Amino acid sequence: MTLLYEGKAKQLFMTDDDKVLRLVYKNDATAFNGEKHDVLQGKGELNNAISVLFFEVLEAEGVQTHFIKKISDTEQLVRPTRIIPIEVVVRNITAGSLARRLGWEEGKSLPEPIVEWYYKDDALGDPLVNDDHIAALGVAKTEELEEMRMRALHVNKILLDLCHKANLLLVDFKLEFGVLEDGTLLLADEVSPDTCRFWDAKTKEKLDKDIYRYGLGSLQAGYENILSRIGGVVHD
Ligand code: 5GP
Repeated sequence: MTLLYEGKAKQLFMTDDDKVLRLVYKNDATAFNGEKHDVLQGKGELNNAISVLFFEVLEAEGVQTHFIKKISDTEQLVRPTRIIPIEVVVRNITAGSLARRLGWEEGKSLPEPIVEWYYKDDALGDPLVNDDHIAALGVAKTEELEEMRMRALHVNKILLDLCHKANLLLVDFKLEFGVLEDGTLLLADEVSPDTCRFWDAKTKEKLDKDIYRYGLGSLQAGYENILSRIGGVVHD
């Protein structure tokens, strides 16, 4: 089957049906724009299982996504979209680049969620951009940005609720959106501990990709912990 796209952690293949693509989760872990790279057994299965569960919950809550169905431990079927090259980051608690940029201590609850845009460009290191930059780049319309902001905040509410029940803090996360030929906006890419920060609500232990970024222990143990708390399974 034709490989359409290969990213750091996933591959996207065509299928016999032009309205369906096959998304494969790899075991590769990368950080710092590809400077750090390892292959971690079981990571693909864990991310596939967690992302499937989140997409199913989001769909059930009325969020339109590209997700169709899980077909194996590491694969799911998705709808083809034109990805808007803007990463939408939503933050509830200070961490990562926000804490660094503003000199803020990590772990402080924000009074309101902060939504940020990053321009997807590896060569530039995905720079932070504002609405005017995006208009000048010509990569998303004003209405699309407004819609992406509203959808991202809706996703945040749903995930916060799910995390609360699982004794997890949803610190921040990154979303990507894609557009169908008729202009319909869909949540695309993945929602997993590769793209979200999750901390234990009591101990503040990091359970997401920061384990790998900062060498804090076993990434798989963290991801398994998240999966079991949210009620997902690796093998159906
Ligand atoms: P930060 O800007 O603090 O590095 O990241 C904010 C949130 O967005 C974190 O949950 C992080 O995992 C996610 N994020 C931002 N950019 C990327 C990216 O290029 N790839 C992945 N996997 N996650 C990202």
